[in-house]
Amino acid sequence: MTGGTNGALLAEAQPTAEQPTEAEWAAAVAALTRLPADGRVLLICHVNPDGDALGSMLGFGLGLRRLGVRQLQATFPGRPELPEPFRAMPGLDLLVPATEAYPDPDLVICFDVAAVSRLGALVDRLDRAGAALVLDHHASNTRFGGIHLVDPHAAATSVVVEKLLTRLGVPLDQEIAECLYIALATDTGSFRFDMTTPAVHEMAARLLATGIRPGEISRRIFDSRPFGAVRLYGDVLGRTQLEPAAAGGRGLVWTYATLEDLARHGQRPYTLEPLIDSVRCTVEADVSCVLKQVAEGEWAVSMRSKGATDVSRVAVALGGGGHRLAAGFTAYGAVGDVAEAIRAELSRPGLELSGS
Ligand code: AMP
Ligand code: MN
Ligand code: MN
Repeated sequence: MTGGTNGALLAEAQPTAEQPTEAEWAAAVAALTRLPADGRVLLICHVNPDGDALGSMLGFGLGLRRLGVRQLQATFPGRPELPEPFRAMPGLDLLVPATEAYPDPDLVICFDVAAVSRLGALVDRLDRAGAALVLDHHASNTRFGGIHLVDPHAAATSVVVEKLLTRLGVPLDQEIAECLYIALATDTGSFRFDMTTPAVHEMAARLLATGIRPGEISRRIFDSRPFGAVRLYGDVLGRTQLEPAAAGGRGLVWTYATLEDLARHGQRPYTLEPLIDSVRCTVEADVSCVLKQVAEGEWAVSMRSKGATDVSRVAVALGGGGHRLAAGFTAYGAVGDVAEAIRAELSRPGLELSGS
């Protein structure tokens, strides 16, 4: 579990970590190149996978396949259901349900996983595997594996993946490139966020040079929604609340979606993932928040900041994690109580970010 309100965890949410050392890169390359010919490799990404989690995992999996790794599985905890936009990704044949994943792989590799709480029931593989490699870019990463390639300056986990593939001598092809492009585009908000550095565009250029089609990929991943989802968004956005005095006067805008909302419009829970992007547009609030009901009295909470508030500290304090400007946690109770807990955390001093 990530969780608690102690200072150590709060400190972990700060981007103090360094880039991976040469020794760490060498250890990762050695773990992969010294794998026995029949070695079983299990790739795991975080629960409720997003584009970076899936794209990094499948892109690397395809790279390992090119290297000749034959016993290779990719998986994620929980129900083996992929959001519709991801159902045409390359490398999906690597995916197996969590219940069918190798119980004791020779090597386990985690993608975009900041803490063991994001591994669900697959957490036991960390102890059962011969070695555990962690590829990630969360500053809050708790370094739960054996070998860590954690770069908090990377815009996406796929940035780390591309570097490792280069060190392994695996060239980019269109399938790998599409996976890594989806990952990079997802975590940079389609190259709109501040982490969109020259290096990010240079990586995108390398990916595009393989001949992948950014227009078609973006439409499929970001701009396709069933009509029922459009109506669902109407209902949920219609109850959005603006609280200008919250977050020390920087403002909070928030809404919630229930299982009944989903049922009424015949939609699956993943349909709500992009909803935060519609809420966070609100100019009157720095902090935005969406509560998505996952069960009776249980909510998946997404938080975003435009740059003035460290929402990762709020999420960590409430049992979750994430990045300074994009974080989340699981909450329990009535919607009003969850909102009140968020308000209370947002009112604490020390969350304000400078230079925004
Ligand atoms: P989301 O709002 O689900 O897109 O997540 C935004 C960020 O918060 C991601 O970087 C996640 O890794 C992180 N995050 C979301 N939910 C949780 C959670 N329950 N525990 C830890 N981190 C989370
Ligand atoms: Mn992710
Ligand atoms: Mn990521």
